Amino acid sequence: MKPLKECNHAFPCFDEPALKATFSVSLGHHKNYTSLSNTEKYRTTPKMSTYLLAYSLNQFSHIFSQTQGPSSIKFRTWVRSDALQNATYAADVAPKILHYFEELFKIPFPIPKVDQLGMSEFKYAGMENWGLIEYRESAILHNPDENNIGKKQHVADLIAHELAHMWWGNLVTMSWWGDAWLKEGFCKYFSAVAVVHVHPEWKHFFESYGRLQLHAFDHDEILLNETIPISHSIVQSNPEEILRYSTIFYKKAASVIGMMSAILGSEAFYDGLRSYLKDNAYGSTTLNQLWNHLQSASDRVGALDKAYNIRTIMESWTLQRGYPCIKVQRNYQTNEVTVSQNHFANDTKSCWWVPLSFTTQSESNFNNTRPRFWLKCNAKGMAKAVTVNLKSSENEWIVFNIQSMGNYRVYYDPRNLKMISDSLLLPDHGGIHVSNRVQGLYILHSNAT
Ligand SMILES: [Zn+2]
Repeated sequence: MKPLKECNHAFPCFDEPALKATFSVSLGHHKNYTSLSNTEKYRTTPKMSTYLLAYSLNQFSHIFSQTQGPSSIKFRTWVRSDALQNATYAADVAPKILHYFEELFKIPFPIPKVDQLGMSEFKYAGMENWGLIEYRESAILHNPDENNIGKKQHVADLIAHELAHMWWGNLVTMSWWGDAWLKEGFCKYFSAVAVVHVHPEWKHFFESYGRLQLHAFDHDEILLNETIPISHSIVQSNPEEILRYSTIFYKKAASVIGMMSAILGSEAFYDGLRSYLKDNAYGSTTLNQLWNHLQSASDRVGALDKAYNIRTIMESWTLQRGYPCIKVQRNYQTNEVTVSQNHFANDTKSCWWVPLSFTTQSESNFNNTRPRFWLKCNAKGMAKAVTVNLKSSENEWIVFNIQSMGNYRVYYDPRNLKMISDSLLLPDHGGIHVSNRVQGLYILHSNAT
């Protein structure tokens, strides 16, 4: 996403995402230049926000590729002619990802072509203009002789992010910039999902998801009292402010979206998102529309008990700043476990609806990410600890937050932590999931409550 107020340099317009129109572009230019815009042969664009309009006059060369299957979307990847050989990967992977998204969201891509434009000077890594995606050239070039997997993964991640925008932001747009996470968070999340699909051999999801979650924790900790909630009215005239908080509405939002998928399970999560996209296509939305679609999908498949409301749960994550630390204190005589929450910097006014998944050493099931019980907030928004008997033996560990899908850190009492640490030293790390190992282990000091 580029800072706001830039798109109205070309022509007078209302630069507001909810104000959509169709655009007919004509460009006069010297015959030595190639001209490109959002649609093929300058047809009128779909109904869209002003910030998505783009045009280019260039002398680049291109590689042609296209999606497989009935839609057969044509891709052209444009760069300087002497860089063309390094654009092969971008040209190859992009149609695969677009096709995957068409199937995942069950909504066909509405423009018959995508131009990907790599420019040697571009302030941002990518910009999702509909049908004419702009990139910083260095962010999409990959030299196959270098065998640099990390670089290749960055290219795939970025292209997947921009292509996810074709649905998240372009087809359905947040009503106001303060909810930019409705596009950026989803694109960050779905880029991780798509890259796993096109490159299963990389086992990349847990790495990207873990990284973005840890970055988000760090960001909240560094900004401390100045951090903002995911949904926040950003001053439109100040692009620097937007950049300062981009980790919140990109990475933290993606982490919270991943948690939402674990809360709902994939059937209700995807049902809800597909109907949200379909019902709001070519329009704009606020958070309530998203919550309503997810709630209906959840009710349809019975994903959440009636006592839980997706809007109440998710607003505790999107409208509050910071994140919770979950404290797990076991009583080894009674077999009970007391779980409580605290704001990471002890802001006592905060309370989150925390989905708690867990497994024990004897069970060792790291596949079930659905919540098995919850930490709730009362009517006054106050947190309450929960004591439960998890039927574990005193000599086995309990690990909470399966696959680290919840956007929180877990602190364990010293004895439980020691049992986990001992298992981690075993050759198979005691069967403990890589994401739980990545997130780290935190000790609960005996005087903590
Ligand atoms: Zn983006």
